Amino acid sequence: MGHLDARTLLIAEIPVLLLVGGLILAAALLGRRDRTLGWTGVSLLLVGLGFLLGVDAPGSAWQQSVTRFGALLILAHACIWTGVRAFSGKPVRWLWIAVGPLAWCAACQWPGFVLSGVARVITYGLLVLAYTGATLWELGVEPRGKTRLAVLPFGILLLHGLLTFMRMLVTILLGPEPGRLRFDFPMAVFEGMLFFIGVAFAILMMVGARAERRYRHAALHDALTGLANRRALFEQGGDLLRDVLAQRRPLVLLMCDLDRFKRINDEHGHETGDRVLAAFAGVLRRAVRTGDLCARIGGEEFVVLAPNMDAEGALGLAERIRDQLRQCECRVCEPLSASIGIVCAPQDGDDLGILLARADQAMYRAKDAGRDCARLWAGSAEDATLAAVARGGGRCASQHPVDA
Ligand code: GH3
Ligand code: MG
Ligand code: MG
Repeated sequence: MGHLDARTLLIAEIPVLLLVGGLILAAALLGRRDRTLGWTGVSLLLVGLGFLLGVDAPGSAWQQSVTRFGALLILAHACIWTGVRAFSGKPVRWLWIAVGPLAWCAACQWPGFVLSGVARVITYGLLVLAYTGATLWELGVEPRGKTRLAVLPFGILLLHGLLTFMRMLVTILLGPEPGRLRFDFPMAVFEGMLFFIGVAFAILMMVGARAERRYRHAALHDALTGLANRRALFEQGGDLLRDVLAQRRPLVLLMCDLDRFKRINDEHGHETGDRVLAAFAGVLRRAVRTGDLCARIGGEEFVVLAPNMDAEGALGLAERIRDQLRQCECRVCEPLSASIGIVCAPQDGDDLGILLARADQAMYRAKDAGRDCARLWAGSAEDATLAAVARGGGRCASQHPVDA
């Protein structure tokens, strides 16, 4: 392999670092508005600037050149650390960001330090290792905002830390040549750029994956109650129904509708209504088993899908829901109540849309029976009755009420 010229490498790397850093910063400011991306972009720009000033410094300004070059690169490491902290929602530690570069600047005031290659490489290495170690800690130990993709920057940081340590060791053993701004390890310059670009893209992937997770969560969950929404019910509930039926196991669907909820809104305000909805979601969460699916499909309409449960179990579940709702602390003036319609798969249908429609019919029969009760879907006769009533413009009366 031919000899690598450090100066040529530096010059070649400057536009790459400035371009990538600028693009990431622009994406952070204009698009995603993500602090982690912002700090990563700034970090690349600082490295590019450091290389630019390092290359352009005339021989007479050696001391200032070393000071600027080292301080900017150490600051860039501090920015990566701050960006990773921002990923888990932590605040900026300005003092700790400044400590490393300032320590470097202070050491550079001493001519003996600037002339000693060993002292420079060791001091720079220790400061970089400190920020790299802190970043590793944030990625590995800190559970907040963790993502599986964190393993990428984690690996790059670890490799870089190892290389920095080895560079320090080699410098101590062999001693670099003091004097002009030159690199005894041109590969270190190349590795420096690879490190910053690699970390930047790994962080970019982490931020992108998290944004996707958040959008997906928002698309499938109801913002007020945190329960699954109608789309999630059809996505996840459809899969659940298919799996359960394929294994010839039963499943029940409960359609729950709060009674006289409009009155709560009208008499106590919309905010109280919202609190009642959130409390009802809590009641459902506590009443169901793990593996059951709860969803809010409309204003005050909720659905529970419970696999491996028969009609008897469903009536028991409905009773528990009504009991807990009655005792719910969020009661307004009179105890809260709900009307519940129940269908059982596969006997009442094997399609989620049909099951929902039939549970709705059963729920309306519960309303007609005076509310605060549960009704099982009464069989295909109910479909015909409902169609007749719909043609006649009225609501169906309960045909075969099954008391909960
Ligand atoms: P019924 O016993 O027959 O079910 O009567 P109801 O008043 O509960 O039923 P209705 O469907 O007439 O009223 C539902 C109300 O739910 C109407 C609407 O203003 C309210 N609502 C829908 N979404 C929300 C919401 O997100 N927050 C609040 N506070 N109210 C909501
Ligand atoms: Mg209602
Ligand atoms: Mg309703």
